[in-house]
Amino acid sequence: PPAARIRDLRKSYGKGAARVDALAGVSLDIEEGEFTAVMGPSGSGKSTLMHCCAALDHADSGEVWIGNSEIMRLGDDALTRMRRDEIGFVFQSFNLVPTLTAEENILLPLSIAGRKPDRRWFGKVIRTVGLEDRLGHKPNQLSGGQQQRVAVARALVSRPTIVFADEPTGNLDSRSGAEVLGLLRRSVDDHGQTVVMVTHDAAAAAWTDRVVFLADGRVVEEIRRPTRERVL
Ligand code: ADP
Ligand code: ADP
Repeated sequence: PPAARIRDLRKSYGKGAARVDALAGVSLDIEEGEFTAVMGPSGSGKSTLMHCCAALDHADSGEVWIGNSEIMRLGDDALTRMRRDEIGFVFQSFNLVPTLTAEENILLPLSIAGRKPDRRWFGKVIRTVGLEDRLGHKPNQLSGGQQQRVAVARALVSRPTIVFADEPTGNLDSRSGAEVLGLLRRSVDDHGQTVVMVTHDAAAAAWTDRVVFLADGRVVEEIRRPTRERVL
């Protein structure tokens, strides 16, 4: 089954003449172990789509299935568990807690849930993101690229069904951006992670398996390419 199924998702902002249909009926299947890029002009609905799919925002209508659950039909407790266990999110602005170390930030979703990390998996995630010697650093002692790698590790640590990333390289120089893309790619290739990433950068999209284009709140085009052709 797909990791996520989105059906006729709709969301509007404002009323009357000021109404904007941010999502005007989006349907999409996200296959397990696939790295998908969502592209499109500014205002085409990319962020709204990510937030509605990750249960950070409510759509007006439609369905978002993550695994076997439709998120808008979940009660509060089930939704909290879904956000914590099934969904990872990477923000453009990192969103780390400034008073916590890198390690504490990465483990935060687990500590909030009162869970102990699987140390083997934690070690793997840390090696994947290359943060072995930065675990005791606070965010302000890390570069932007390192902070985003902490944020990616935080998104991966609970082994979520799906990771959503909203412009994860938007605040990074191209070298740090490539590092973050490389580790999202490796999480897909080595661990079968499912990743959906918003980007406006064609070079970033080149790391993915599939590109979905949005315009005016609709899917207007889709490109899927075999791994072999994934070159810049
Ligand atoms: P993108 O991420 O592709 O730039 P967004 O999802 O941010 O697009 O926005 C889609 C449309 O919804 C835009 O027209 C935007 O102005 C509008 N929009 C987004 N968020 C809000 C909001 N909180 N209030 C009013 N309009 C909004
Ligand atoms: P490795 O872990 O072997 O060093 P990389 O992190 O460099 O691998 O790349 C991981 C995956 O991303 C590989 O499958 C590679 O083909 C692909 N890849 C590497 N660089 C690019 C690029 N510039 N554009 C698109 N895909 C790339």
